[in-house]
Amino acid sequence: MKLKFNLVTQIFIAFVVAIILGLIFGKSIEVIKPLGDLFLRLIKFIIAPLILSTLVVGIASTGDPKQLGRIGMKTIVYYLITTALAIIIGLAVALMFSPGKGLDIKLDASQAAEAASAEKAPGAIQTLLEIVPTNPFEALATANILQIIFFAIFIGIAITIVGKRAQPVLTFFDAFSEIMYKVTGMIMKVAPIGILGLVAPVVGAYGLSVLLPLLKVILAVLVACILHMIFVYSSAVRVFAKMNPIRFFKGMTPAGMVAFSTASSAGTLPVTIQNVEENLGVPKKISSFVLPLGATINMDGTAIYQGVSVVFIAQFFNLDLSMMQLLTVVLTTVLASIGTAGVPGAGLIMLTMVLSSVGLPLEGIALIAGIDRILDMLRTLVNIIGDASAAVVVAGSERELER
Ligand code: ASP
Repeated sequence: MKLKFNLVTQIFIAFVVAIILGLIFGKSIEVIKPLGDLFLRLIKFIIAPLILSTLVVGIASTGDPKQLGRIGMKTIVYYLITTALAIIIGLAVALMFSPGKGLDIKLDASQAAEAASAEKAPGAIQTLLEIVPTNPFEALATANILQIIFFAIFIGIAITIVGKRAQPVLTFFDAFSEIMYKVTGMIMKVAPIGILGLVAPVVGAYGLSVLLPLLKVILAVLVACILHMIFVYSSAVRVFAKMNPIRFFKGMTPAGMVAFSTASSAGTLPVTIQNVEENLGVPKKISSFVLPLGATINMDGTAIYQGVSVVFIAQFFNLDLSMMQLLTVVLTTVLASIGTAGVPGAGLIMLTMVLSSVGLPLEGIALIAGIDRILDMLRTLVNIIGDASAAVVVAGSERELER
């Protein structure tokens, strides 16, 4: 317990130092960025082996196909509902803040063209097909999370069917997953240094002149994120899992800080899994399925950000959104957030899909591209807290939560 407290405090100190260093040295603090990159690489290298081993063990130890199906259904329904709520909150807060009214910024045409051409979201059928790996080792090699989940589910089920003869394989994966947890713990010891290296350059790169004109957008995203966490996640963990929300948020603090600094929910996954299991008592068989899936398809923070951005861009170009258009935004944003990869900046690219669904000018992307990193940090934090709340809610409703 003492160690955990220390880690959170250390990370917090790293944040404060990062902000101070960034403010003092400005852009030149860039020199410490390799420390951040090193930390990122360290947490990323655990992802594929960690998901594979924990999910195989999780599925094989459930053994009950009915429970598996139920867990899957609950998870997906929870993800869809919370994402829809997120975008509604995002739209409502943005309409209250009116972040795009009376703004005087010039659009950089080349930036706009770049943003518009970056988009090419694959179709729905192709996306679904690609969940099935043609080569599981390639899936592991490229850390394709959905494909690894698919592979692991099959191995897990087959281990149960084969029974005794498959036991050595199960024992292997079980031991291997323990080892991967240990590795995660080792890497987390250097998290404060990594976070310093990630956050200070961001602070150094943004001057007030970049931030101030768009302050209302940042505030709207921030307020909507806070409201979503307070109302949706707090009530969900309280009602479905009888967990005190304070305990929930406290338990998720390390992962939240890593998500905030890295702006990648996929990258944060090992820490999210560790926090959810060790601090919140969710059993492996649930967390190993719910969390990797969530890091890939559940992006409530991204949905909030896309909702706010749509309102902001419409206001900037003096276009009114009808009720029908707002509804279209809710629908396309749910899809866009599912399609958003858990890597930095992905939500900005998927925003083009939402904008074009209601005929808003794609040039609007260039308006927020300049501050996207800041918004990305906020939305990624919410993204992983949302995944964790799902793990707690599903475990609670299955009466599997260790108290
Ligand atoms: N960076 C976000 C994440 O990893 C995705 C996004 O850009 O919205 O969760």
